[in-house]
Amino acid sequence: MTHASPTGGRPTLAQFLIESRRTAPAATGDFDSLLTDIGLACKAIALQVSRGVLSDSTAMTPHGFRNVQGEVQQPLDVLSNDLFLRATEWGGHVAGMVSEELEEPYVVPPPFPRGKYLLCFDPLDGSSNIDVNMSVGSIFSVRMAPRGTDAPTVADFLLPGTTQVCAGYAVYGPASMLVLTVGHGTHAFTLDPQLGEWVLTHPNLTIPADSAEFAINASNRRHWEPAVVQYVDECLAGTNGPRGKDFNMRWIASLVAEAHRIFMRGGVFLYPRDARPGYGQGRLRLLYEIHPIAMLVEQAGGWASDGASRVMEVVPAQLHERRAFVFGARNEVERIERYHNVSAGKRTS
Ligand code: MN
Ligand code: MN
Repeated sequence: MTHASPTGGRPTLAQFLIESRRTAPAATGDFDSLLTDIGLACKAIALQVSRGVLSDSTAMTPHGFRNVQGEVQQPLDVLSNDLFLRATEWGGHVAGMVSEELEEPYVVPPPFPRGKYLLCFDPLDGSSNIDVNMSVGSIFSVRMAPRGTDAPTVADFLLPGTTQVCAGYAVYGPASMLVLTVGHGTHAFTLDPQLGEWVLTHPNLTIPADSAEFAINASNRRHWEPAVVQYVDECLAGTNGPRGKDFNMRWIASLVAEAHRIFMRGGVFLYPRDARPGYGQGRLRLLYEIHPIAMLVEQAGGWASDGASRVMEVVPAQLHERRAFVFGARNEVERIERYHNVSAGKRTS
């Protein structure tokens, strides 16, 4: 007898879910097969992304088409959206879905039975990175449908992040990884492309409370609020400034890739609101970008904010509502909140 195991002794995603369920007897397991379906969608997207310009999808839609939010829709955005819908609509777990690529909620159609969950997703995050062969990803969020298996309406989706029962993302980088929480810590799986399995490689991720690395698009400095200017200027002042230490800066311009770096080695990310038209409430979307990343961050011991307070508690008024987003090292994010709340206090007094 040898000690050989298919995955070198590491749990697969399916094994991880089953073993997690054994410790939570109330769980029905519905959830497990929904996550297996999401995992399949992410594997299919990973395969397309890995083929680069050789992917068939480049022929699927003309370049330059814009989505409901006026953003240029890449062919892979459309393909990834379809992969998510087809992978998850059939299983009887989901009542409806919201996607970055769809203006209205997608109600699971006959002949499929509607289930008790709502799924929100950004099928391909950072898709402008595709053309330059940089990391992109997918983000997803699962909630209980407030009215059970009735056809969900827009209002049913307008819930705070605290109602999520599961959240995660896949990052398609040099290796593809799936980072997941079902409410008991944040765990990362690496795709074994030969086996086609997500294999648990990074259980119980933690984001250190302190950091000397920040990520922001500094070209927008002239549009920022005073609190953001103050925070970044203090970082840039280094050892001779009020922080008394040197900082590094990073900017990939892909939320998933930025989040992934922070889960792997810490740091803080800022996408603040600013004075430009269309950026007054921030840029990232609450339901399928901010809330899922925020849940993963909190489950890893970090903090996620809209600059002033806990962003998990923010209730969107519209499906595609935007918000400022600051997350990562708890002490850094709380410092940024303090600066915002001090300058807000000054304005009103
Ligand atoms: Mn996207
Ligand atoms: Mn996105």
